[in-house]
Amino acid sequence: MTMASARDFKRKSRLEETHVAAFRRRLSGSLVLPGDDDYHSARRVWNGMIDKRPAIIAYCANPADVVESIAFARETGLPMAVRAGGHNIAGKSLCDDGLVLDLSRMRSVTVDPEARTARAEGGALLADLDVASQAHGLATTTGVNSDTGLVGLTLGGGIGRLGRKHGLSCDNIVSAEVVAADGQILTASESDNADLFWALRGGGGNFGVVTEVVYRLHPLGPAVLAGSLIYRWRDARAALRLYAEFSVAAPDEISADAALVTLPGGDRAVSISAFYAGPLEEGERALQPLRSALTPLEDRIGAIPYVELQRAGDATFPHGDRFFWKAQFLRTIPDAAIDALMDIYPAAPSPRSLFVFQQVGGAIARMPAEQSAYANRDAAVDAFPVSIWTDPAQDEPNVAWASAAYEAMRPFGTSGVYVNNLGDEGEDRVRAAYGANYLRLAALKRKFDPTNLFRANQNVRPVD
Ligand SMILES: Cc1cc2nc3c(=O)[nH]c(=O)nc-3n(C[C@H](O)[C@H](O)[C@H](O)COP(=O)(O)OP(=O)(O)OC[C@H]3O[C@@H](n4cnc5c(N)ncnc54)[C@H](O)[C@@H]3O)c2cc1C
Repeated sequence: MTMASARDFKRKSRLEETHVAAFRRRLSGSLVLPGDDDYHSARRVWNGMIDKRPAIIAYCANPADVVESIAFARETGLPMAVRAGGHNIAGKSLCDDGLVLDLSRMRSVTVDPEARTARAEGGALLADLDVASQAHGLATTTGVNSDTGLVGLTLGGGIGRLGRKHGLSCDNIVSAEVVAADGQILTASESDNADLFWALRGGGGNFGVVTEVVYRLHPLGPAVLAGSLIYRWRDARAALRLYAEFSVAAPDEISADAALVTLPGGDRAVSISAFYAGPLEEGERALQPLRSALTPLEDRIGAIPYVELQRAGDATFPHGDRFFWKAQFLRTIPDAAIDALMDIYPAAPSPRSLFVFQQVGGAIARMPAEQSAYANRDAAVDAFPVSIWTDPAQDEPNVAWASAAYEAMRPFGTSGVYVNNLGDEGEDRVRAAYGANYLRLAALKRKFDPTNLFRANQNVRPVD
């Protein structure tokens, strides 16, 4: 027996065989345990930095399986984590020596084109919703990588190309079905369990396992105007200034992100990715300043099917590579921040690493901060260095670079952070994600999860 399989065996034997056998019988889905052939592939998540060893992985097939899995965690006292798309940067969807409740087999999405709503199961990916709704010329806000978990993204907020026009993903929830810590199946909406509905819209996985979300949809596409403009490094300062000015003045239809990148030949560059949620000709006019104010090295803006656009970034973030990032919100991008980036970015140890500005504002900012748990609505951009590499021996310099880049941007930050971009950064940073909403969230946590069963997340502790 190898050292690793001896460790796996020890873990498995901590669980009563009879308990596990009874759990397996009650489940329509299936279990994977240490020692099973597929255990090591089943414990992988998107970020290759994460190396956790759960005691048991339960692949749920339906809400009844979710109820059974929560009951099993309560009965055995095992720690529990909830996994859908597996994209959490800190690997919160896994736990050592505990139960992983996996939703990846619950991915169906059905669209009601008359009502302009979509009903998505708790394990759906962004692409599942984008594809199903675009079949009817509809869409709602999701994120920018199509293989991210839809509900995981939504529960933390959900920042994406349609956010400035239609609000965050969580602002587009009509209702949700939740299995609570006591095993009850609850509906949350403006009229049912309105306090839970408030908490779910930004409060992450703290309040239960969400088995279904009904989203509001909006007409879009199928073709949209979008793409990136690449500016030479010698124009990097000017390109970032252009981005700062253009994005702040942009109408809600425009969503523009900027990134410091390294091109395949090794040259550094600035990329501005822009999207227009409206007629193509209108978009051409609206995006013109990006083309005329500064001559780009490459102009990749054109008409593209929305579904294709939503997949276009996937290859930059392949499953299993190593990733580290640290994010903060900014209200403006001042010249001093741009100057700092001119020194910071070239110091990145990996040419695949990026510094990203993801635009928010617009409709997101017009919703009052107390209307849902998501708090940092006054930001203009989410700013974060992203380290991407493959060799574990290079972990230290890559983590150190992104941490230093974050620190260098701190003087310009709001002190707020997007909960879905948080790593293992401690309780103060979770509070920074919720600001004045934190106390209400903690009181609702006490009501819906008093024993903190759902704690493998950016945890809000229950208080009176
Ligand atoms: C490459 C990449 C691109 C991204 N782009 C964006 C973006 O454009 N916009 C954006 O807003 N975010 C983005 N994110 C962040 C993303 O929103 C979070 O990583 C989110 O947690 C992903 O959800 P998941 O289901 O894939 O993750 P998982 O790791 O499976 O789950 C993360 C946590 O979400 C909770 N959770 C997930 N599903 C459920 C459920 N059904 N019920 C209860 N709790 C649940 C659990 O607490 C779990 O620990 C991106 C992440 C990556 C890695």
